[in-house]
Amino acid sequence: MSVIDEIRILKVLEKTKEPDAKTAQAVINKAKERKGLNLEEVGVLINLTDPVLLKEMFNTAAKIKEEIYGERLVFFAPLYVSDFCVNDCSYCNFHQTNKALKRSKLTMEQVREQVKILINMGHKRVLLEFGEDQKENPIDYVVDVINEIYKVKTEKGNIRRVNVNIAATTVENYKKIKAANIGTYQLFQETYHRPTYAKLHKGPKADYDRQLTAHDRALEAGIDDRGLGVLFGLYDWKFEVLGLIAHAEHMDKAGGVGPHTISVPRLCEAPTVKYSPEYPVSDDDFLKIIAILRLAVPYTGMIISTRETPEIRRKAFKIGISQTSAASVTSTGGYGKQTDSVQFTSHDSRSLEEVIKDALKDGFLPSFCTACYRLGRTGDDFMYLSKPGEIHKFCRTNGLLTFAEYLEDFASPELKKDGYKVIEQYEKKIEEPVMRTKVMEGLKDIREGKRDIFY
Ligand code: SF4
Ligand code: SF4
Repeated sequence: MSVIDEIRILKVLEKTKEPDAKTAQAVINKAKERKGLNLEEVGVLINLTDPVLLKEMFNTAAKIKEEIYGERLVFFAPLYVSDFCVNDCSYCNFHQTNKALKRSKLTMEQVREQVKILINMGHKRVLLEFGEDQKENPIDYVVDVINEIYKVKTEKGNIRRVNVNIAATTVENYKKIKAANIGTYQLFQETYHRPTYAKLHKGPKADYDRQLTAHDRALEAGIDDRGLGVLFGLYDWKFEVLGLIAHAEHMDKAGGVGPHTISVPRLCEAPTVKYSPEYPVSDDDFLKIIAILRLAVPYTGMIISTRETPEIRRKAFKIGISQTSAASVTSTGGYGKQTDSVQFTSHDSRSLEEVIKDALKDGFLPSFCTACYRLGRTGDDFMYLSKPGEIHKFCRTNGLLTFAEYLEDFASPELKKDGYKVIEQYEKKIEEPVMRTKVMEGLKDIREGKRDIFY
């Protein structure tokens, strides 16, 4: 089965080039039913220029986000474990030809140190980042790192979910990371456009099909939480959005489980990277991409990173983003020290507390929830709850409990005061008496020192 049919994508873009208002309105109306959109319908939204309908599209995206995910915004941090890499991707500072970079990978002791820093910041979820290098970063090293992270405990808690980004690999290797209890396996296609992919990659990653079929192999190995993404700016964003939707459709059809998340990284500058994008994505188009994806795959979580400025992130949270990194460092072992060996330049240098304060001002409930993965609500089981809108009540409950933990363990007195006001506000909105009682009891327990309560 062909995952990406480029001819079909180009035909869709051509056919939907100038959508009439009636057709566009019909697509928006269909999106309101929260059943997702097909490739052609997404093409209509991609080519939409009518300001009134665009406004309705953004409002619909915000409404869908609210209905499915509610007010919660889940936080995580990336952890760069190794920048050894045999690939030469034109857009990344870790490219193999960067001889100025003093390569490093974390020892188990350094893993523990980095994880303690993240735990003591308040994080409960990490996303591991490894360059591709069979010699330096073999799968057993990846597994050892994951195991080590789960073992680290401080008086402030532990990391409860380890998501992993490793290069496309074999079913056997995926089985090993599955056995190590990973959360989501993330791998980005970077660009779905074959000629562009060929131009920008050298090394094993240059194999477009190896990259494209990785999620299928991960599923074969039992990993049903899988994340997609492209690096916006490498090729025409319109093509890339259709590529993402086609890939999501393939995952759904071939394995019965669509992507758990879609990430929307936008190319940004990096040291030693001279490549300048031929297809830069404007802020307006970037927000349009997020809104369209929210309408097209309403049950897929959407992730934004600190590649974006606080202003853009703030807007993106409202129209579709459900998970965000915060206080990120993009260099190997970079937490707690100054380093310029970063993969890319971050555009949001706020601390976790600052990001949380701003999120509260916008009415979000900061969440450190990891409940679904720990209760086995993944893949089909997750979709079973999320499609009828049932997951929302778990998200709110767990969001309230994990945010209360954060406030007790990490927040300044000022944030604690503001945070509990928001908790009170959302606690009142819980309609189900059983859930409400659980939250009330849980909050009391957390205030009294109990931790890690989840449903
Ligand atoms: Fe290596 Fe990944 Fe950077 Fe490519 S993007 S050079 S594979 S670390
Ligand atoms: Fe995510 Fe599940 Fe927690 Fe909701 S309840 S925030 S879907 S882990």
